[in-house]
Amino acid sequence: MCNLRSFVADPSVRVPAGWTPAELKGVPSARRPGMLAASFDAIKGKAERDDGQKLTPVQIDQMAPILASSFGLTEEKTRAHLAEVELFLGGPAANTPWNAVTIGHDIYVRSTDELKAIEEWNYRRWLSHECGHVMQYARTPAGLDETHRVRRYLGAYVGHLVVGASCGPGALATGLCCWLHQNFNPFNYSKTHVTLQDAIHDTHVMEVEAERAARAFAMGT
Ligand SMILES: [Zn+2]
Repeated sequence: MCNLRSFVADPSVRVPAGWTPAELKGVPSARRPGMLAASFDAIKGKAERDDGQKLTPVQIDQMAPILASSFGLTEEKTRAHLAEVELFLGGPAANTPWNAVTIGHDIYVRSTDELKAIEEWNYRRWLSHECGHVMQYARTPAGLDETHRVRRYLGAYVGHLVVGASCGPGALATGLCCWLHQNFNPFNYSKTHVTLQDAIHDTHVMEVEAERAARAFAMGT
């Protein structure tokens, strides 16, 4: 999941032909609106009813090499997972402060306007960030069925709220410290006044990993 703020990449770089789909398909999610309800649907194995918006072959070609190396996957496996990605409207992204939520191969945005935005070359860092979450899902055991893999992925995400990298404190604790520092520390003379929700999000190890890959992609293109 992620917030749209500061996701615009350098607009001066030439757009590769065919990056954005010729016709955008805004398909509403069949899962219930809201992060918890939709995640619960996913955990129970409720799949999407209709086909969402697929990635274009150009998007897959452009993102696959850097995502493969960033997440320690083969390019072949990365491409196979990217080919399964579908974008939907609503579902877990509905009624949330996040602009996008990714569960398994499904990327959810809140509105048609956000769907248009994430498909633009200028927002390639945003799309590649969400595809980074797909790569984290791709690392769940391949022998499990999709529902169990989704459970592992969501379990890891929730678990890392409590426990961070190398068994250090998780995003709840690190985010709280960051929020206090950026809002209330009298010795911090350049406070960012980040919200608590953003601080927790930004210090989550899976978000940091997805963001690092997305930055590498946006800077390298
Ligand atoms: Zn994210």
